[in-house]
Amino acid sequence: MRENIPKKIRFEVFKRDSFKCQYCGAAAPEVLLHIDHIKPVSEGGSNDITNLVTACSKCNLGKSNVPLDDKTFVMKSRNQLEELSERREQLEMMMQWHESLQDIKNQLIENISTYWESLAKGYSINENGLKIIKKLSREYTYDEITTAMDIAAEQYLKFDKDGNCTDESWNIAFNKINRICGTRRLTKDKPEMKDLFYIRGILKNKIRGHFDGSLALSLLKNAYDNGVTLEELRRIALESNYWDDFEEALNR
Ligand SMILES: [Zn+2]
Repeated sequence: MRENIPKKIRFEVFKRDSFKCQYCGAAAPEVLLHIDHIKPVSEGGSNDITNLVTACSKCNLGKSNVPLDDKTFVMKSRNQLEELSERREQLEMMMQWHESLQDIKNQLIENISTYWESLAKGYSINENGLKIIKKLSREYTYDEITTAMDIAAEQYLKFDKDGNCTDESWNIAFNKINRICGTRRLTKDKPEMKDLFYIRGILKNKIRGHFDGSLALSLLKNAYDNGVTLEELRRIALESNYWDDFEEALNR
């Protein structure tokens, strides 16, 4: 009977059972281990791993005190084995699922890279660039990233007479993608943000001396939330030559 079970399966059963007799607990190498069929071959039991159990020679040959014909033990053992096997299958399924997810992710990163390379002709993305795209793809959707790429390309890429973009503009544009994604996400949730960003842009151009961009934005947001219209804010921005003008106008 033992000869019928391939070595590989025997090894699998021994490993699963930690090289211990499942009836009495005796372990290799103290005892010689056999493979026992839970449901005997004569009764149609298969060589499937769920029907096999590690047994020492004593137990297997029926010389042990543990009654092998005790149905409750056999059923319990069998249920455990089936559960083990089910768990193993589930693990395998999960691993396959993870792998397929990884494939999808890799494909996504490749598609995004290809998209950028089609916009920014003349250079391909290096390892570091791929890392950045990988990071982007964890946070943003394909649509969000490629739309940001469109915007970055249009605003920052400069091309030579052969239609290839310049090294410098490539880097500038590529490094803007992340911020464009973030800004667009923000303006999607709060449509007024787009206008507030624009008004801040006016301010930045108008105001002489030091300009605190994030403070300006939070002041504008605060004013908007308190009922100042975008039209009024735009007018204030256009009329401010110094930071103090801006703050005074907002306070009024
Ligand atoms: Zn035993």
